[in-house]
Amino acid sequence: MNSTPKSFSEINSGLNSRSLTCVKLVNSYLENIQSQKDLNVFINLFEEDALKRAVEIDGRLKAGTAGKLAGMVISVKDVISVKDKPLTCASKILSGYNASYNATVIDRLLEEDAIIIGKTNCDEFAMGSSNENSFYGPVKNPVDKTRVPGGSSGASAVSVASDMCLLSLGSETGGSIRQPASYCGITGLKMTYGRLSRYGLVAFASSFDSIGIFGNNSSDIAVLLEVIAGIDKMDSTSSNEPVKNYSAILKNNIDPAKVKIGYAKEYFEEGLDSDIKNGILLQLDKLKKEGFEIREISLPHSRYVIQTYYILTSAEASSNLSRYDGVRYGYRSQNSSSLEEMYINTRSEGFGEEVKRRIMLGTYVLSAGYYDAYYRKAQKVRRLIMNDFENAFKEVDFIVSPTTPTTAFKLGEKVDDPLSMYLNDIYTASVNLAGIPAISIPAGKDRNNLPFGLQIMGKKFDEAGLLAMWNEIKY
Ligand code: GLN
Repeated sequence: MNSTPKSFSEINSGLNSRSLTCVKLVNSYLENIQSQKDLNVFINLFEEDALKRAVEIDGRLKAGTAGKLAGMVISVKDVISVKDKPLTCASKILSGYNASYNATVIDRLLEEDAIIIGKTNCDEFAMGSSNENSFYGPVKNPVDKTRVPGGSSGASAVSVASDMCLLSLGSETGGSIRQPASYCGITGLKMTYGRLSRYGLVAFASSFDSIGIFGNNSSDIAVLLEVIAGIDKMDSTSSNEPVKNYSAILKNNIDPAKVKIGYAKEYFEEGLDSDIKNGILLQLDKLKKEGFEIREISLPHSRYVIQTYYILTSAEASSNLSRYDGVRYGYRSQNSSSLEEMYINTRSEGFGEEVKRRIMLGTYVLSAGYYDAYYRKAQKVRRLIMNDFENAFKEVDFIVSPTTPTTAFKLGEKVDDPLSMYLNDIYTASVNLAGIPAISIPAGKDRNNLPFGLQIMGKKFDEAGLLAMWNEIKY
């Protein structure tokens, strides 16, 4: 495997001194992709386009007219639209469908000369925690190929962990960036709801969905975020909160004496692997020694997170996914004798098991007889969970917890047990219910040498704080 630069600043100094070109860089990534094909990371590789753009950008670098992200090679989860390219969401139902426009984040990336190397595999419509629910086959964890990389943005995490690109865009609805980051030993940042435009991100559960970033260090993510964040007239839920100068903020060191860190006791109870628990407690101890104040806090509604998350996201998914009807997009079942039969056959053949389970669950909780008992009640609990965080953040600046209750499990181990799969999201889904930002940072390895992450949850729009805290975590 080629060793590729681990940071954008290393790439920039190579480009400036002419020891590196974008063409060379893209070729090294392509070779790494080729030599690790067994991991099953890309659904579509943009080999020719990426090289063509690399030539153009090398020209602009010489002329001094290149954009801010020249030399940044990025992979994109295949739930984000790139114009004229297949958009599959890892589903059979979108076979043959090409995106007719760029997602806003993609437009912003391209304007600043980033290079997109391809579209990464994921769980179908981003539903899953193992990247096994893909029409294009499961993705393997590079740390141990008998194990899952996590999901749903598993392949995005693997692409960064295995030097196939510098950064990757994934998406989150309940932990799909942070959980694979934790399983693959890298960092993933989920933004505040509304920080990044969702225009061109295929909807799973619209009041939860957000785009997120995998990367090797805080300054790379900061540079990328400055380019893609900010209000967008194409997404009415994008926020008009001014975009911070993340890179500049990161240059100032944190003063530990001014920072209070919350330790939520509900996140350290039964079900948490003992190695992970000890590893996170050790990190908290180190932070305390550095001068941070550590305070025990409570998030009393934590035990309702999984139920609330799965009721609400399935309800939203059942509505969002009604558009895949065999008429408007991709796959259509042949040989139906009526329109209704065509709808039914297309959806029965086109969606995988997990997606069908969510559509049925969502339709059920929204149905007239059960709406109050499930959907309305879950909405109320969502508010209580949000209040828990609002109260906690009156006392502390950040909340630290494990990212996941276990390290990466074996491929196939949980495919027949949806409930145990859902329980993976126990420490991550609360963040999406509340709409706050959070990051998963490598924090240790378990008895089997498998990595695990430490999660830091922050106040709304404090992505800069999370990136700065990342620099404080050393293991
Ligand atoms: N594992 C969660 C689910 O299946 C999270 C998915 C996500 O964040 N996209 O719903």
